[in-house]
Amino acid sequence: MFSKVLIANRGEIALRIIRACREMGISTVAVHSTADADSMHVRMADESVCIGPPSATQSYLSFPAIISACEITGAEAIHPGYGFLSENANFVQIVEDHGLTFIGPSAEHIQLMGDKITAKDTMKNLGVPCVPGSAGGVATLEEARIIAADMGYPVIIKATAGGGGRGMKLARTADDLEHAFQTARSESKAAFGNDEVYIEKYLTTPRHIEVQVFGDGQGRAVHLGERDCSLQRRHQKVLEEAPAPGITEEMRNRIGKTCADAIAAIGYSGAGTIEFLYENGEFYFIEMNTRLQVEHPVTEAIFGVDLVQEQIRVAAGESMSLTQDDLTIRGHAIEVRINAEKLPDFTPCPGKVTTFHAPGGLGVRMDSALYSGYSIPPYYDSLIGKVIVHAPDRTAALARLRRALDEFIVDGVDTTTPLFHELLNEETILKGSYNIHWLEKWLESHQG
Ligand code: ADP
Repeated sequence: MFSKVLIANRGEIALRIIRACREMGISTVAVHSTADADSMHVRMADESVCIGPPSATQSYLSFPAIISACEITGAEAIHPGYGFLSENANFVQIVEDHGLTFIGPSAEHIQLMGDKITAKDTMKNLGVPCVPGSAGGVATLEEARIIAADMGYPVIIKATAGGGGRGMKLARTADDLEHAFQTARSESKAAFGNDEVYIEKYLTTPRHIEVQVFGDGQGRAVHLGERDCSLQRRHQKVLEEAPAPGITEEMRNRIGKTCADAIAAIGYSGAGTIEFLYENGEFYFIEMNTRLQVEHPVTEAIFGVDLVQEQIRVAAGESMSLTQDDLTIRGHAIEVRINAEKLPDFTPCPGKVTTFHAPGGLGVRMDSALYSGYSIPPYYDSLIGKVIVHAPDRTAALARLRRALDEFIVDGVDTTTPLFHELLNEETILKGSYNIHWLEKWLESHQG
């Protein structure tokens, strides 16, 4: 087992990883930009190294700064968290070239799944059902027109290098196609330095359901059921729950086994998420994330496992402790993402937190790096915490979430908490019958 792990991240996820390490008796190294010197992850880690100025490109994304921090401190492995370098195959290669261990899948698997066209092809060949669409990249507008007309509108143009909801454009009719095609390409070029796009049938009322998988890199893999992440704004998740409302055990086992078999077949190592759109009883693969997800705690809650510790064990060459037969679901869990943003426009709202009080009690977990007196810097993501509740069933989980949010205090900055107070009174949320478009429509009618 490793004796020292460096965490190449910040905020709540850095704390999450430090906690996992501490329970395993592993020392931790935090890295931070100058803007994060007073951060909780720096305080909580055993050691810390300042790796650069506020700009993420010069700190949290800087390969030399992070590798040097490992060398100075003697850390043997790097946990990337999510975002930043977590899905950067070049980084993984460089980490390995320096004799260090990357806690996550291999560079090859990250690359395979990081290109959405190759990912879809691979999954299709492994028997995973996919959204109907173009066979590979679409180079010209003329080609796009033919494919879209053949498939039928609406269609969605997606960047093969896409992520975080960028480089994705909807064409409702043939009239929209040119604009959608060109903007998806230019947005993707600007964001990812690659303008290759592909076309998919646009599903009009799907839910976003994703399957958590875990592989040992030796051809053994398990699934840990699904999460429903359909509550989205601008293709970004806002609330997640597990299990997904309406998914039966038989459906879960079937799609879960398909996913576990697929990643076992490619010898995948560590945690991964296979994302689907689900409509009229059918699952359609959209992409695979080769890392820990923001919403992993809902899965941890219902299965009673620690996914980060499992990642560390497998990366250290130990055998995976998870077996499919032992993985059984207990109860229901819901997570809400709290952002430092001002409603109704969701404008980022960094600044000084004068009071912070985390909710607690039975079945409540708060993952946050906030503390009273902390100044949220303006340079990074506005996620400031996640409230996760676990209860015997969905109704009890909703009641627990309402109660937890009532206890939650953040003064000094605006947060998205009031949105959840409102949403938890909505019939559609209470029934669990929302799809991926529901929240946008609700926001339009409530805040327009
Ligand atoms: P990203 O990697 O940018 O997050 P994804 O492929 O995971 O992109 O898609 C993100 C979200 O975009 C999905 O959860 C869904 O809301 C929407 N989306 C993606 N593909 C389709 C599609 N074919 N039809 C309808 N909505 C889609």
